[in-house]
Amino acid sequence: MPAGAVVTRSTASTAARIDALLRPEIRALSAYHVPPAAGLLKLDAMENPYPWPGGLEEEWLAGLRGVELNRYPLPHPAELVQALARQAGVPPGCGLLLGNGSDELIQLIDICLARPGASVLLPTPTFSMYSLIARVAGLGVIDVPLRADFGLDLPAMRAAIERHQPALIYLACPNNPTAGLFDPAELRALIGAAPGLVVVDEAYFPFAGRSVLPWLLEFNHLLVLRTLSKVGLAGLRLGYLIGHPDWLAQFDKARLPYNINTLTQLSAQFALAHADRLAGEAARICEQRHRLSQELKALPGVTVYPSDANFILLRLPPGQAPAAHGALQQAGILVKNVHGGHPLLTDCLRVTVGTAAENEALLAALRAHLTGTV
Ligand SMILES: *Cc1c(COP(=O)(O)O)cnc(C)c1O
Repeated sequence: MPAGAVVTRSTASTAARIDALLRPEIRALSAYHVPPAAGLLKLDAMENPYPWPGGLEEEWLAGLRGVELNRYPLPHPAELVQALARQAGVPPGCGLLLGNGSDELIQLIDICLARPGASVLLPTPTFSMYSLIARVAGLGVIDVPLRADFGLDLPAMRAAIERHQPALIYLACPNNPTAGLFDPAELRALIGAAPGLVVVDEAYFPFAGRSVLPWLLEFNHLLVLRTLSKVGLAGLRLGYLIGHPDWLAQFDKARLPYNINTLTQLSAQFALAHADRLAGEAARICEQRHRLSQELKALPGVTVYPSDANFILLRLPPGQAPAAHGALQQAGILVKNVHGGHPLLTDCLRVTVGTAAENEALLAALRAHLTGTV
């Protein structure tokens, strides 16, 4: 072909080939959308608002200086695993498997359990990645709505278990986006009734103070998922799965060998050596959560749901969520509009708890919008 010749690629044949080759489940998906946040106060993704204090940052950077980036990371970073296990209080006889964020562990579990016809049971609304990853893995997805008060609908869950015999159940506790914990007796009953694996996702444990970790000693089919993402280390991508070593050994076979990069390994160990700082920030966020909840409740027509996490779900007067979301964005504040995502979330917004100043900015903008004052 002469240099500079124009090549016209045929879109028609690409579409035909995609149709012929792609799994239909993938074709049917929409990509996970992360809205642009440049220049906005980011209260949409449950990140920790506090930067590292100056001295600590210097110390961390000094530690990174010796890293050999020409070498592959440790495939099994034993020291990091031990530090995480110690900090989490992993029960005796249980193991811990690292993931590139807890999302990767969800993917790993789903891939391993995706036998033909296998399905995952989800009480909804819940973390959207559960159904997205399940579909990519080829699992069927069965969803059972929560009760109107966002508790588990135990009879409906039992009926779905009877009918579908799900290989897997994901229970986020506290749940995202509803923010509360499930009742422990109901949670326990559900785990007891499950014919397959149950994964209790404790991404928000640092703000909840209650865990099912001790139940691992009673239930061999229970796994607990944790992450560093919500305590100030979202950029590292480090999650971990705790449970029976026989299960973890199977999942480990499907894990890519170097899933935790060297910078993450080092930084996580450094952060764990300063775990008191992370705990202190979680406590501050819980104080702010209380204050922000009280103030939101005082706004006209706003319902605030109880939160055991670092975010709050609120319901606005009918029809107002999209406009309020837009007005907040105009005011430079990004929150999550969950209206339209699930019938139980009609008119709802989800807001991350920020610093005192960030929460004040959110309140002022929302108050101005709802009362028509500027
Ligand atoms: C935010 C969140 C996670 C975190 O996922 P990572 O991949 O670890 O960042 C996991 N589960 C739930 C329910 C969440 O809301």
